[in-house]
Amino acid sequence: MTSDLSGLTYDVAIIGAGVVGANIARELSRYNLRLVWLEKENDVSCGCSKANSGIVHGGFAERPGTVRARLCLEGNRMFAGLENQLHFGYQPIGSLVLAFADEEVNRLEQLLGQGQANGVEGLEIIKGERLRELEPRVNRQAVAALYCPQSGVVSPYEMTIALAENAVRNGVRLLLGTEVLSISRGADGFTVVCQNLTLTCRYLINAAGLYSDRVAELAGDRTVRISPRRGQYVVLSKPASPLTHSVIFQCPSPLGKGVLVAPTCHGNVLLGPNAEDITEKDDVGTDEAGLRAVIRAALRSVPAAGNLQAITSFAGNRPYSGLPDWLIGFSERVPGLINLLGIDSPGLTASPAIARLVADMLQQDGLTLEAKGSFCEQRPPIIKKKDRSFRGDVNATDPQRRLICRCEQVTAAEVIDAVRRPLPVTSTDAIKRRTRAGMGPCQGAFCRPRVVELLSRITGLRPEQITTRGKDSPPLPARLAGSQLKKLIDDETTG
Ligand SMILES: Cc1cc2nc3c(=O)[nH]c(=O)nc-3n(C[C@H](O)[C@H](O)[C@H](O)COP(=O)(O)OP(=O)(O)OC[C@H]3O[C@@H](n4cnc5c(N)ncnc54)[C@H](O)[C@@H]3O)c2cc1C
Repeated sequence: MTSDLSGLTYDVAIIGAGVVGANIARELSRYNLRLVWLEKENDVSCGCSKANSGIVHGGFAERPGTVRARLCLEGNRMFAGLENQLHFGYQPIGSLVLAFADEEVNRLEQLLGQGQANGVEGLEIIKGERLRELEPRVNRQAVAALYCPQSGVVSPYEMTIALAENAVRNGVRLLLGTEVLSISRGADGFTVVCQNLTLTCRYLINAAGLYSDRVAELAGDRTVRISPRRGQYVVLSKPASPLTHSVIFQCPSPLGKGVLVAPTCHGNVLLGPNAEDITEKDDVGTDEAGLRAVIRAALRSVPAAGNLQAITSFAGNRPYSGLPDWLIGFSERVPGLINLLGIDSPGLTASPAIARLVADMLQQDGLTLEAKGSFCEQRPPIIKKKDRSFRGDVNATDPQRRLICRCEQVTAAEVIDAVRRPLPVTSTDAIKRRTRAGMGPCQGAFCRPRVVELLSRITGLRPEQITTRGKDSPPLPARLAGSQLKKLIDDETTG
C-alpha cells in the first residue's frame, strides 16, 4: 500500500505516534514542510500514551531547574488553548496531595516550596474544615493537603487522536503499521527502511517511547537504556454523585507520584498506579499483587471508593531511563537526529511544550519554518455531549439516536464519524478509544458485534478481518476482570 513512497524525500520524519510524536507532528504541520510520521502499530496512541493516569500535572512534583520541571509547567499552560481547538475533553479540576502524619506535612511544605520555585501559581496547604469542604469523602485521618488549582484530567488517547487527526488534516503523511527497521546516515540526511518502504529525510525525530533506545541505536547512537516501569490501575463505575471533585494524591515516593484516586473526564473513578520494574517492554498485564497494593493505597485516601463497582484493570509501562532528567536534543553522535529519551511522567503534560522545543531546535539548526496559510487549527469532537432530552434507542433508524453501546450511550452517528475521519480505523479498540463503545460495565459484550457490523459496512472489511487490536497485533494481555477486582476490593475494605 505504501510502496509508492519509496524514494520520496522528506524534511522531517517522526518515529512514534504517541502523544509526544502527535504533538510534534501537529506543531510542525503549521509550516511548509514535507513531513512523514511512522508508527509500527495499526493506530496512534498504542504505547504508554494510551495507559496512564491522564493527569495534567501542576508542576510541583518536579525538581526545580530540570528540563522536566520547565516543560511540565509550559505544557500545563497550553492545555486550555489546545482544548479550545481540538476538543479532547480536558478538565482543569485541581488536585490535592494528602498528608496523614506530621512528617508528611513537612513533605507538603517541601512540595509547596518546590512548586513555587518552578513557578506554579495558586498552591496552598489546607487543613481541617477547608479540606473537608473541598473533598468531603477524603479519609478523615488526613491532617492536611497541598492544593494545586492548576492540575487537571484528560483522556490521553483522545488527546493523541485529536492531535493526529489535525496533523494529518494539515498535510502530515501518517503511515501506520510501519515499523522502522534500519536507519543509515548519508551526506544529505537519513535513509529509513521499514518493512514495506524506504524513505529519505533531512531530520529524524525519535519519539519512540519505550523503544526510543532501540531507535537511537538503529541510527548509531547508543546513549541510554530504557527499561519498563509498570503501573497498574483499576477503573471503577461512574458514581451517582462525584466521589471526589479533584485528583487525590498521596505523598510521592522515590518510585513516582504514588497511587491516586481521580475522576476521569468521562465520570469514572481511576485508582492507581503502582510502580514495578519489569523486564518485558510490552508486558502490560495486571496481577493480583499489584492491584491489591493499588486498592489498599487508594482506599486509604478515599474509603468510599470501595462502594463503587469495579469495571476493569489495565497497565502501562513508563519509559524509565534511570537518569535524573529527560534527554531531549540533537544526538551528539548522529547529526540531524533529535532524541526524546526517558519521557516518563509528566510527559503527557509536557508534550505540547516538548513539541515547541523540538520545532525551535530544528529552526536553530537551519530548517526554515515558514508558516502555512492553509493551517487549520480546529478539529471537531467525536463524542457528542448528550443532555437530558437525549433518547437513544438500540432499534432507532436515525443514526443520531441509534445506540451502538448502551453503557456509554454511543450512537451509530458517532461510530460512523470516527471511521470517516482522516485516520484509518480498523479495529474495535480503535473505535473504543474514539467513541467509548465498550468502555462501560459490560466491557463490550453488547456493543462489540454491533461495532463490527458497522465497521465492516463502512470500511468494506469482512467481519472476520476486524479484530480487537488489529491485524498481526500481539495477544491481549492477561488482566483481572471486574468480578476478580470486586473480591480484592471487598478483602481490602473488610480486612
Ligand atoms: C503508568 C503511567 C502513568 C503516567 N501518568 C502520567 C500522568 O498522569 N501525567 C503525565 O503527564 N504523564 C504520565 N505518564 C507519562 C506519559 O504517559 C508519557 O510520558 C507519554 O505517554 C509518552 O509518550 P510518547 O509519545 O513518548 O511514548 P508512547 O506513547 O509510548 O509512543 C511511542 C510510539 O512509538 C512507536 N514505536 C516504537 N518503536 C517504533 C519503531 N521502530 N517504528 C515505528 N514506531 C515505533 C510505539 O508503537 C508507540 O506508539 C504516565 C506513564 C505511565 C506509564
